[in-house]
Amino acid sequence: MAYKINDDCTACGACADECAVEAISEKDGKYFIDPEKCIDCGLCAGVCPVEAPQSE
Ligand code: SF4
Ligand code: SF4
Repeated sequence: MAYKINDDCTACGACADECAVEAISEKDGKYFIDPEKCIDCGLCAGVCPVEAPQSE
């Protein structure tokens, strides 16, 4: 289980600052969650203005 960022993401970057395990990274203007690092805490979903990070 891990969180995944969907296409609603506007690349604001708020979630990346919140993640304690630095699982969120940006590449070519899009944000991704590394499922190997994500500990399913849900903080990214809490700060995201468009609820793009979803639990799988
Ligand atoms: Fe990071 Fe938690 Fe979001 Fe996973 S659920 S990417 S650990 S903030
Ligand atoms: Fe995308 Fe939401 Fe993260 Fe902003 S907080 S970069 S909109 S997933």
